[in-house]
Amino acid sequence: MRIGSVFGIEISVSLSWIFVFALVAWSLADPTGPLHRTELGIPGRIVLGVIGSVLFFASVLVHELAHSLVARARGIRVRGIMLFIFGGVSMFEDEVNDAPGEAWISAVGPLTSLVVGAVFFGCAEALGPNSPLGVLFGYLAYVNVALAIFNLIPAYPLDGGRVLHSLVWRIGGSRERATSITVITGRFLAGTIVAFGIFEALAYNVGAGLWTTFIGWFLLQAGSAEQTRIALSRAMQGHSAAELAISAEFAIPADARANGALEAFQHAGMRALPVLLGDRVLGLVSYDQLSQLPDDERERNYVTVLMTRVEDLDEVPTTTSADDAIGHMARNKAHAVALTNPQGVAVGVVTPESVMRWLAASRGS
Ligand SMILES: [Zn+2]
Repeated sequence: MRIGSVFGIEISVSLSWIFVFALVAWSLADPTGPLHRTELGIPGRIVLGVIGSVLFFASVLVHELAHSLVARARGIRVRGIMLFIFGGVSMFEDEVNDAPGEAWISAVGPLTSLVVGAVFFGCAEALGPNSPLGVLFGYLAYVNVALAIFNLIPAYPLDGGRVLHSLVWRIGGSRERATSITVITGRFLAGTIVAFGIFEALAYNVGAGLWTTFIGWFLLQAGSAEQTRIALSRAMQGHSAAELAISAEFAIPADARANGALEAFQHAGMRALPVLLGDRVLGLVSYDQLSQLPDDERERNYVTVLMTRVEDLDEVPTTTSADDAIGHMARNKAHAVALTNPQGVAVGVVTPESVMRWLAASRGS
């Protein structure tokens, strides 16, 4: 969900933030929460709880903005910021291609959180530790420092993982080796956190232990997703979207009927194929669309009637990089993109299947 933009950077929020919001407000308003020391009644605690939630949200946003602004200052195109249940993520169009850049972009987030925490701490001290606002600011100081420390855990995809990666890259000189080392370190740490969480749950506190286990498990999952993303983006480097397109030899001619087209699917071994008139792509037809038809309709209908018209697909120019084309599909949850030549005519289609096929072929060669 898009909520606006700051410094030209798009900000969107996942619905899971409702829980974070409620959790922060609740933990502040709770009778045993940090505000119990003050004389505040229930309405007052609720108001401060909501203000605390908003300020916490702002704290996470400032952390992410720091990443994005430093990245932009170093020439990286920033796609936007997404805030979700575990904090936020800054999304970049380009890969960071130097170790110092990666170090700065990653480290500035936790550093910013520390500074924000210090500012809140200063406010809390100025207002007195037992005044309601003083307690609120003290709580926010604690939360921001915790945010900084959590993010400094050297495991992908946390900032600490990226800082570690940039250091190993700088020292060892090899980016690939740095990635492997960071992935292994992250796995080890995440595994340790899971093990500790299980121990904690069994020996001390079930709730806290399960929470720790959950965080470790999240780091394991997110770490391997990050590893896949990095590997994919490496494999794509220097290749254009046109290389990912479904080969024209598998295309279905525009004058084919559904019946005949089904044979083309068997030949291609794919679940979606472009419909071609000369060199021009008219649309995309899927095996499921055709195979679900009754026999008589399959004999009668032309594929051009049944296909998804190319106008209804997302389009990117053929000259787009392979990485950007895939990024476009992922961002827009598109099951296919049409590739257009400089005249704006669709001349190819990329689908997840054709990407997988290209990857398999490029790995084999
Ligand atoms: Zn961060």
